[in-house]
Amino acid sequence: MTEQLKISASAATPGDKAEFPGMFTEDGTPWHYLDSAATAQKPQIVLDSVAWALGEGYATVHRGVYSRSARMTMGYEAARRRVAAFISAPQDELIFTRGATEAINLVAYSYPKKGRVLLSQLEHHSNIVPWQMVAERTGAQIDVCPLTEDHRIDLGALEALLTPRTRLVSLAHVSNVLGSVLDAREAADLAHSVGAKLLLDGCQAAPRLPVFVDEIGCDFYAMSAHKMYGPTGVGALWGRKELLDSMPPWQGGGSMIDKVTFAETSYAPPPQRFEAGTPAIAEAYAFAEACDFIDQIGREEIEAHERALVRQLREELSRIQGVRVFGPEDALGIVSFELPGVHPHDLGTILDEENVAIRAGHHCCQPLMDHLGVPGTARASFGVYSDEADIAALMRGIDRTLKIFA
Ligand code: PMP
Repeated sequence: MTEQLKISASAATPGDKAEFPGMFTEDGTPWHYLDSAATAQKPQIVLDSVAWALGEGYATVHRGVYSRSARMTMGYEAARRRVAAFISAPQDELIFTRGATEAINLVAYSYPKKGRVLLSQLEHHSNIVPWQMVAERTGAQIDVCPLTEDHRIDLGALEALLTPRTRLVSLAHVSNVLGSVLDAREAADLAHSVGAKLLLDGCQAAPRLPVFVDEIGCDFYAMSAHKMYGPTGVGALWGRKELLDSMPPWQGGGSMIDKVTFAETSYAPPPQRFEAGTPAIAEAYAFAEACDFIDQIGREEIEAHERALVRQLREELSRIQGVRVFGPEDALGIVSFELPGVHPHDLGTILDEENVAIRAGHHCCQPLMDHLGVPGTARASFGVYSDEADIAALMRGIDRTLKIFA
């Protein structure tokens, strides 16, 4: 992003673990990390970026008259430009948040609440609970779109659930449990056909798919940097300018105002209106570096890499008698499954002994677990650094587990 930050910008290739210090155990052996849907490991360039921005580059933004602060402010705004460009959005429509959860809460709090909100059965709790909290306060009503038999959001059913009272449709672009990819353009068209807006939870899509909001035609897009090889504590909400302009602030404090008196306070325009307080400065810098990192590899390449790994894993799992593999055949980056007679937590614990990390549980999707009829699933999820050796190690561990439980 800036010259100071181009410390280790060597281009990685899919399957290359060398750029990621977190992909090795303490004795230097590769770790079979298969939990990238929870959080992605960080490439060295992101770590260097945080260190620079918290170290020799560090000062506050937006307030200082001294040169270090002015430079940091320029860098922070350049980071905003970079993250906005990543999804093909104008910079003044990109709000830095603490993550996708905060991005969704922001819309839930600030976007007009009267009417109905349409969600789906596979949503993450962070795209359910904020709407329930709004519904409790305002009487807004929530509709839930069912899934198809192969575990996609059923857009036919969605169409039937839309009414002129639907204000907002809020859906996961890619499911964090099933890996199913939403036809986002179709969802946007359907929402708009009744005058509703579409919010996409892009947590799992932004790290693995080319995402361009102008092509999709959605109205809001939420992301978390830590799932995109960036740091924790920062994310983004993109929203159309005319919508953001019409929305009141949701938190008050420094940086979000135009003029403050005890009699009356006026607010800054978006995006500042929605960024009260000192922001996550170094994290925003590193978020921009993470976007560069992804684009250096290429999002089509990442998508193809993860699709191939999912195909391979689904095929290997399907040879196990009695296994249930959830999600559609063409799932992206994520495979949830259930082994016969083995609790997912037991599998996760045994795999840990084999140096393999998977996620076991409800994945913050309890309504989806109810729909699948399971208390939880085992979930393997991939990143740019994942490779066939990770799948081989996982399958060895599964074999051993099945023998233990036989
Ligand atoms: N939505 C989806 C689909 C997710 O996978 C996650 C993280 N597991 C979230 C929202 C919440 O993201 P964060 O915790 O980074 O705010």
